[in-house]
Amino acid sequence: MVTETVTQPGRFGIYGGSFIPETLAATVSELKTAYVQVCEDPSFWEELDRLHHTYTGRPTPLTHATQLSTRLGGAQVYLKREDLAHTGAHKINNALGQGLLAKRMGKTRIIAETGAGQHGVATAAVCSMLGLDCVVYMGAEDMERQKPNVFRMRLMGADVQSVNTGSQTLKDAVNEAMRDWVSHPDSYYLLGSALGPHPYPTMVRDFQSVIGREARQQMLDTVGQLPDVVIACVGGGSNAIGIFSGFVDDENVDLRGIEAGGRSNDLGEHAARFNGGKVGVFQGTLSYVLQNDNGQIAGTHSISAGLDYAAVGPEHAQLHDEERAFYTSVTDDEALEGFQILSRWEGIIPALESAHAIADAIRLAPTMQSDQIILINLSGRGDKDIFSVADRLDVVI
Ligand SMILES: *Cc1c(COP(=O)(O)O)cnc(C)c1O
Repeated sequence: MVTETVTQPGRFGIYGGSFIPETLAATVSELKTAYVQVCEDPSFWEELDRLHHTYTGRPTPLTHATQLSTRLGGAQVYLKREDLAHTGAHKINNALGQGLLAKRMGKTRIIAETGAGQHGVATAAVCSMLGLDCVVYMGAEDMERQKPNVFRMRLMGADVQSVNTGSQTLKDAVNEAMRDWVSHPDSYYLLGSALGPHPYPTMVRDFQSVIGREARQQMLDTVGQLPDVVIACVGGGSNAIGIFSGFVDDENVDLRGIEAGGRSNDLGEHAARFNGGKVGVFQGTLSYVLQNDNGQIAGTHSISAGLDYAAVGPEHAQLHDEERAFYTSVTDDEALEGFQILSRWEGIIPALESAHAIADAIRLAPTMQSDQIILINLSGRGDKDIFSVADRLDVVI
């Protein structure tokens, strides 16, 4: 285990870093250099802004959930509407940023992994728009669970590769994507969350920070005050770090990250890394990881494929240890309840991932005053989830 406490580039406290095979060192270093270059190049960010405006549909709205607020009888609840971004989730913010970076680096072939398919769909869209080839690795189990997203990716010209190793889910897809990258170092690996070796956690946060920047300004412009609490679901942690980054310097704003509590607290039955995880290295970075006593990566479970992952982004590990953000979990059943309540009371069908943040707000709002504000990052829309929810509710559609 790493015990040094000196802050180095790519470290968040002791967390983060770059734990990669020697064969990837030169490739990752090239990426790091390219990212540092575009960070100092205003024309890159202008182009990204322009495309967010004309392609992604940014800025996404801020919605006052008045029915929900009134019925819960406590804090006023606001929603940052990433569900209205093109392709239906916040994933496009990162896919577009990295797609433009890849293009600047002269790359023509993009590799990506996907779990539920949302990152794969966002990457496929960006690649067709920028004229890049796209290969997406997806676990065979996930391909079966998320057929509509597989078809979407193929419609947009992506080559979707089925991964048949391990549990045939997200972590196996990441392994396969990394393997492809090792044998095709000229390709660009477009990682989908604030995870993996440096510079990904920093770069993905930077591309997702547009959520927090917009939301903070929208709160000031339309409500005239900052929220008391910001809530986001945490899978790898990209939508959460994106909105948190807008408020992390506002000491009076509480930050709450919601992990997947799954079916129970038993190892293997959930994906709450801060409730049972231990510090370790997984897929390139040091963070909290669900593992057994021998350090073997544990199985995970969540009703939402996007939160079903054994590790959490390293910056969240730092925010957790420093107690700047508070992490808790919501069970499958509570998320299902949140999914139905937002649909019924606001006419907004949330992604099952986002429904975890809704469920936390449902228990928190009644404990607060009516002049206090909860801001929820509604990370995505729930159209992809209607079949699995209908199944859970024993409804035939
Ligand atoms: C992928 C996804 C998530 C989880 O990923 P993070 O990197 O933790 O944001 C959450 N919500 C939606 C809608 C997603 O598609």
